Amino acid sequence: MSEKGEAFTSVSHCTTLLNKTGTWRSQRPVFEAKISPCQSACPAGNNIPEWLGLVKEGELQKAWEVIMRTNPLVFTCGSVCPHPCEAACNRDQFDEALSIRDMERFVGEEAVKNKWLPQKVAYSKEDKVAIIGSGPAGLSCAYQLGRRGYSVTIIEALPVIGGMLQVGIQDYRLARDVLEREIIHNILLPFEVEVRSNCLVSQEVFQRIRLEFQAIFISTGAQEGRELKVPGVDLDRVFYGVRFLRDRALGKLPANLFKGEKVLIIGGGGVAVDAGRSALRLGAKEVKLVCLESWEEMPSYKLDIQDALREGIEVDCSWGPEEVIGDGRGKVREVSFVRCTSVFDSEGKFSPSFDRSVKNSCRADAVIIATGQVSNLSFLGEGVPLTPEAKVKVDDALKTDVAGVFAGGDTVTQPATVIEAIAAGSKAARSIDSYLRGEPLTLEEEAGSVVEFEELNLDYFKHQARQFQIHDHVSAAEEASRCFSCGYCNLCGNCWVFCPDIAISREEEGYEIDYDYCKGCGICFEECPSKAVSLKKE
Ligand code: FAD
Repeated sequence: MSEKGEAFTSVSHCTTLLNKTGTWRSQRPVFEAKISPCQSACPAGNNIPEWLGLVKEGELQKAWEVIMRTNPLVFTCGSVCPHPCEAACNRDQFDEALSIRDMERFVGEEAVKNKWLPQKVAYSKEDKVAIIGSGPAGLSCAYQLGRRGYSVTIIEALPVIGGMLQVGIQDYRLARDVLEREIIHNILLPFEVEVRSNCLVSQEVFQRIRLEFQAIFISTGAQEGRELKVPGVDLDRVFYGVRFLRDRALGKLPANLFKGEKVLIIGGGGVAVDAGRSALRLGAKEVKLVCLESWEEMPSYKLDIQDALREGIEVDCSWGPEEVIGDGRGKVREVSFVRCTSVFDSEGKFSPSFDRSVKNSCRADAVIIATGQVSNLSFLGEGVPLTPEAKVKVDDALKTDVAGVFAGGDTVTQPATVIEAIAAGSKAARSIDSYLRGEPLTLEEEAGSVVEFEELNLDYFKHQARQFQIHDHVSAAEEASRCFSCGYCNLCGNCWVFCPDIAISREEEGYEIDYDYCKGCGICFEECPSKAVSLKKE
């Protein structure tokens, strides 16, 4: 008010841009990469919020390209990945986690249907790399090296390419025609990848490979069933799970192998469940799965067990096999069991204990043993050191003790998952590239912190039921729109709308803050729904 009691308004006679109000700031908002819990849980580090944002916009090819940065088997993982990303999804604490796996499968299917190809590389490097084993670890390594311009030769013992994708996981869980087209379109066609199938690498062949190639990636997985040390396992009609599944996948077993029979599966992991479901498809009248573990401890994925139960497979937990008993004519008749009281010791190591006074027995016409997998690494001879667990010994960069020889996937870890093998293949490709260029090996670290549920601004989200069946663009876009986009700017525009200083502008790649005028009020930080903005002390 003036002395005369009149109201006055301050009027600027020149541009207010001269007044750089940014100098008043004591804290600074920044757009900063943070990690979503789904991305952090994905062994391959897939940027899930980024591709879900593109699915929401209907940009499926671009979404596929984002997934393809870290994973060339999009449809495959969308079909069989145990999706640790969904277990970590922040949305689970609000209503339900997103159907990430189903959306990934839909994107992968669209890619195959539309014959999308990764961009070809324009240059080719002189160094040649051999990959022994064509499972997901080997395929992923070939793809990532191909993208870097290397020519790669995959050497595979079997007549088919894909490792356990072809001969472990069965066709009723992973469609073979789409899998094969995905391998061809995404990996073999666009890059210089030669495949030598039907070529079992022996010690002698390995020595030749070492002379022919500048670097080698060993990804031979775990192909044999772990021997069960109880009497009677050599009786007729006793099978080992991984071999049985491989033979079924290669069409070597008659379609009526178990016609009208009772088949007993020993084991509680993925191989046991797949063996049981396959036995049903080979005519078994009854299938029972008996395992050491309690229901909660069973290593198989719960969804797979539920499918098995739905198909009529019976599950009996906490029993250890004692003897496979014959019918006196060399053929199996029954299996005796004792009560398993605990499977792991106090340090979580596998060390089963039994109460031998509590017994049980199951009649069986055939038995399938699925009590673990082991690697056959005899082809390495004395040259490449192994661990005490008979796995290839590697450092953090997947380098063995022998220069130029790398290893990854199930041949290094305990039998794991497809996505872990894919992650190992990518990591090995980075290491091999550094090695061949004579550069020090540097390991990529996760950039930024993982966004917690409590950090999100939930005012901008409404409850919306999860879609379980993603079958078209509409359901995919609807489901993707449920994503909180944790830590990832999805260009919602809130920061720009709410900034009282008009200090935020929309540029081609996203938003920019003009620090000459940003007073650091923190409204953009508060209003960002996904916590893609951080607030730092000046
Ligand atoms: P593999 O896939 O085992 O491939 C290794 C390849 O090396 C094979 O093709 C083999 O023939 C070849 N090879 C071996 N020795 C030689 C040699 N001397 N010379 C030349 N070639 C050789 N994971 C999931 O994520 N989801 C699932 O649902 C799932 N289900 C599964 C079901 C079953 C029955 C099995 C067995 C595994 C399952 N897994 C699943 C695990 C997953 O398949 C494996 O973790 C993954 O395939 C390991 O990949 P890899 O490349 O290391 O080895």
